[in-house]
Amino acid sequence: MAHNHPVKNPEAILAHSGLRKTALRTQVLQLFLEQENALSSHQLEDLLREVDRVTLYRTLRTFEQKGIIHQAIDGAPGAKYALCHGNCGEKGHHDHHAHFHCNRCGKTICMDDIHQPDFKMPPGFELHSSHLALQGVCDQCARS
Ligand SMILES: [Zn+2]
Ligand SMILES: [Zn+2]
Ligand SMILES: [Zn+2]
Repeated sequence: MAHNHPVKNPEAILAHSGLRKTALRTQVLQLFLEQENALSSHQLEDLLREVDRVTLYRTLRTFEQKGIIHQAIDGAPGAKYALCHGNCGEKGHHDHHAHFHCNRCGKTICMDDIHQPDFKMPPGFELHSSHLALQGVCDQCARS
């Protein structure tokens, strides 16, 4: 379930999104490119070590606004983020896949091939967002 971002390096992603290159932005993107699972801001803080929390949050918000990362809503507490696939942008996100949370190892994974249904809303209802959050045991944990 690896992410197949069309652009594989942080510099190109930043340039593509019209963002100035900074050390932190590059580092954060590198981490997202290396991970197959979603990352929480907590995990990012650990991986980056001496990072200013406010700057990190601002960076994540900017990336989300630019369509670089999306929130992986998995029904478990704590915001997690994962890389978008390239058809997201400033105008909006199109990450309509499910997110799977492993109850054993705590990993959250984008299920790129599992899509949300097209909800038929009752008359008068306007749907603004929906999330397909799956929980269970991941393939690695199930094997061990
Ligand atoms: Zn997206
Ligand atoms: Zn697991
Ligand atoms: Zn996702």
